Amino acid sequence: MRVKILGSAAGGAFPQWNCACPNCSALRAGSFLGKARTQAQIAISADGNSWFLLGASPDLRAQIESTPELHPRAGLRQSPICGAVLLNADIDHVLGLLLLRELQPLSVFATESVRRILAEDNSMFAMLQRVPEQVRWIDLVPATWFSLTDLAGHDSKVRCRARSVGEHFPAYVSSAKRGQLSGGEASLGVLVESPSGKRLAYMPAVPHITDALREELERVDVLLFDGTFWSDDELAGIQGSGATALEMGHVPVSSPTGSLAQLAHLKCPRKIYMHINNTNPMLDEASPEYREVRDAGWEIAEDGWQFEL
Ligand SMILES: [Zn+2]
Repeated sequence: MRVKILGSAAGGAFPQWNCACPNCSALRAGSFLGKARTQAQIAISADGNSWFLLGASPDLRAQIESTPELHPRAGLRQSPICGAVLLNADIDHVLGLLLLRELQPLSVFATESVRRILAEDNSMFAMLQRVPEQVRWIDLVPATWFSLTDLAGHDSKVRCRARSVGEHFPAYVSSAKRGQLSGGEASLGVLVESPSGKRLAYMPAVPHITDALREELERVDVLLFDGTFWSDDELAGIQGSGATALEMGHVPVSSPTGSLAQLAHLKCPRKIYMHINNTNPMLDEASPEYREVRDAGWEIAEDGWQFEL
């Protein structure tokens, strides 16, 4: 199974259009030791022909164009992209679906709650249902294995199991709607098992690290983990005010309760921070934070990385 990191930044990307934080300013000025990044996006394929997306980022069009494997191959209108797995209903995670509206058959795997938020409350998503079998929504149930299958019924032999990691729905979801939804379906991480039995964990938004999560991550070969914020008060420190990392559903990297300390024991072959916010000092390869992460055995994802599992 091939895994490609098409985008490695959190929402807003790096640099972010309206941000003049030290990182974004230095990157624009050409004085930053580190790379620009697009919004978090993963693509996986068992055979190199059929691809499934984990999430659908607002940068998806450009990410597809910069990835030859995802270009049309056969016929005037065709795409190797067969479907997407949605882990939450955040705009940064689902907006790309609207960019895939040109009548391409797609399987979209999402919890019932995420599907209802998008398809029932946001009428623009009706563009994905203009003709029969344009997009088929497949309800995924947390803690249950499912296979990535295209609309023609071809089983990719890639299996996934989502786990609930948080109960926060996006701010745009009304309180009336929230009352009809299941909190355990709000925010997921996903385990992806290749046909050869190798495991990838993709966890872009983890509000807290539990013993059960730690235990599950012990058996993965590649971990792509929430690297959104370095510290809990990162945004307030830069902007003067703002929600904490934990309030936004992200355990910070640093501090005794942060992911670096809480996951230090993990022996998985590759531990990679993903979904990195533009304010995070570890993006700067000249910073002590970058050095601390690298010395602890973690990598910091960049757009364009790929690996085989
Ligand atoms: Zn910034």
